[in-house]
Amino acid sequence: MSKPQDPCAQPTLLHPNEALPKLLQQVTTIEDTEAVALTDALGRVLAEDLASSIEMPPFDNSGMDGYAYRFADLPQTGTLKLIGRSFAGHPFDGEFEPGSCVRIMTGAEVPAGYDTVQMQEYAQVDGDNITLEPCKQQGENVRHRAGELAIGQKVLTAGTLIRAAEMGVIATIGLASVRVFRRVKVAFFSTGDELRPLGSELQPGQIYDSNRYAIKGLLERLGVEWIDLGVIKDDRESIRDAFRQAASMADMVLTSGGVSVGEADFTKQVLDEEGKITFWKLAMKPGKPFAMGHIGSAIFCGLPGNPVSTMVTFYKLVLPLLHKLQGMKPVTPLQLQATLTSPIGKKPGRVEYQRGILSRAEDGSLHVCTTGSQDSSQMSSMHSANCFIVLEQMQGSVAADSVVTVEPFNSVLC
Ligand code: AMP
Ligand code: MG
Repeated sequence: MSKPQDPCAQPTLLHPNEALPKLLQQVTTIEDTEAVALTDALGRVLAEDLASSIEMPPFDNSGMDGYAYRFADLPQTGTLKLIGRSFAGHPFDGEFEPGSCVRIMTGAEVPAGYDTVQMQEYAQVDGDNITLEPCKQQGENVRHRAGELAIGQKVLTAGTLIRAAEMGVIATIGLASVRVFRRVKVAFFSTGDELRPLGSELQPGQIYDSNRYAIKGLLERLGVEWIDLGVIKDDRESIRDAFRQAASMADMVLTSGGVSVGEADFTKQVLDEEGKITFWKLAMKPGKPFAMGHIGSAIFCGLPGNPVSTMVTFYKLVLPLLHKLQGMKPVTPLQLQATLTSPIGKKPGRVEYQRGILSRAEDGSLHVCTTGSQDSSQMSSMHSANCFIVLEQMQGSVAADSVVTVEPFNSVLC
């Protein structure tokens, strides 16, 4: 008797890399923007290009604590006359004199006439007589005016996520507020008659609703506004009410559970009446079933209910959609090559995102092992992982010591 065909190896399954552009086409970036104080801008997405209206640095200044002198005055070690001081915020107020030097601190203005700074470690001080070893080049230890930024130079472009570094860049050019996209609103709920709230006692056949908490964590990390609509029963009218309510308050409606074959009926029926939905069968594991569509003006994403599938489909599919929705430039995930420390079993047919632990050996090489059982119901495999081991669609089992592609988790998962 011939073996039944592995349903996961169906030729109709779509590779996630092919599916993603099609999903992205259905998303339009929100139009609303708002001005926010820079202090409130962390995690927001810039909605304007920013150019500098100042030169940076605004004046020639010293990169070291030492002595400013004219390079031509010191062809070899020699003694210069100390005629003043230039400290940060307190420039030298005297006049340049040939054969002189000025005591200078890091960030202090290099006075007119001087062009080089020698570090104090190369100076011998005898009252006002400073014996200096000469610098090797004119201009050494001087940070030149406009060396980093000229007036009008673009510093950040629209679509940039404002992280700590961008906060610093924006402050450098003196902007107290910036225009950002308004926060995206995401309403989410879990579906399933078996799901019970935390703190309640489980009856036979019941489990706790864990997905809502993982989704909340992901959304919170992403900096979107979230609305938690709880657990909705597998019941047509309850699902209809939940979809209507969610779509009226959010830019995206996110659900977990109820998108796999047979179970999807209510979601499909309701969304066929209330909006538009496409069920995707993706060549990825975990996370084969995935639904996307529209309800009113909201985008709908239906994630599979198995906890690991929920997180992986969120990370690989919903995250890029949310990035586009909130105006962010696309992010290409970092991929590295690492040596597998133990074998992995895999059937050809789907791209697998196995949960892995990536580490660096003493010789600097990267090693990776799986977190053990890859059952998509076991959330512990996500918890102990720090990366995905990405195994391509037609790849079979992988032997120990093979080199594999890994994708370290980004800040949304870490
Ligand atoms: P479904 O996608 O609804 O067919 O669910 C697939 C599996 O995921 C089933 O074992 C469900 O009990 C489980 N599941 C669904 N939703 C959740 C949830 N919110 N939290 C934990 N497990 C869930
Ligand atoms: Mg279900």
